[in-house]
Amino acid sequence: MKTLAIDIGGTKFSLALFEDARMIRRESRTTDRDGGPDWMLRQIAEIIAPWAPFDRCGIGFGGPVDYPRQRVALSTHVGGWNDFPLVERVRGLTQAPAVIDNDANAGALGEAIYGAGRGHRPLFYMTLSTGIGGGIVLDDGSVYRGADSWAGEIGHLTIRPGGPECLCGARGCFERMCCGLWLERDHGKSAKELLQDVSFVDRYVIDLAMGLKSAIMLLNPARIVIGGGIANAGDALFAPLRRELRRQMTQWSQARMDVVPAELKDDSVLWGAVALASV
Ligand SMILES: [Zn+2]
Repeated sequence: MKTLAIDIGGTKFSLALFEDARMIRRESRTTDRDGGPDWMLRQIAEIIAPWAPFDRCGIGFGGPVDYPRQRVALSTHVGGWNDFPLVERVRGLTQAPAVIDNDANAGALGEAIYGAGRGHRPLFYMTLSTGIGGGIVLDDGSVYRGADSWAGEIGHLTIRPGGPECLCGARGCFERMCCGLWLERDHGKSAKELLQDVSFVDRYVIDLAMGLKSAIMLLNPARIVIGGGIANAGDALFAPLRRELRRQMTQWSQARMDVVPAELKDDSVLWGAVALASV
């Protein structure tokens, strides 16, 4: 069974070819933010040409997806994606059935089945990269999408009322305070550079813990897995984060605070795309 997995993000996009549950090809490129969907589809066509044919395809998209309608709803980071029929267009390129979900839901599935979330249910997965997204995997292994497939959008919880304006139009969103895109714009350095500075990390984890505390209070997950580029910082980030989370947590709560980095690193979404395609 040959599965094409696609992970479309605001900073980079990745494609992989899987033979059953084995990754046999992978390619990652930088996203041209001004290119829009047509540019992206040309890139995909070029990369997959030597990999064809495919039996099925799974797509994780870096923005809200209308899951029942199987359409991209929008992207707050890149233009031209509003209500875009990406599934149909990819189907046209691959001649194979395709399924799409947002990248946080895909990443959650990937980590739940193949990564750091194995055996931990319910699982909360958070992607901490260009933006911030969340995915919830329930006890039966299904993704909780909510009434309108908009659940898990932890990136737009308000953590700093009256704070700086977010791309969504609100102020002081978790994503606005903590995601890679804004860290770079606010501080003029990449998230990777910033996270090497211990005093920066001590301030950063205050906001990060505030967002995660909401997830713990609301969901009491068995584990929280954090994926996306920023999670690659490892213990330099996770040790102070766990400390700060313990400090902020409501005293009487006995909810566990098991927060770990994604095991599949940059490939959580690709593995999740395979899981999506096999349903
Ligand atoms: Zn927002």
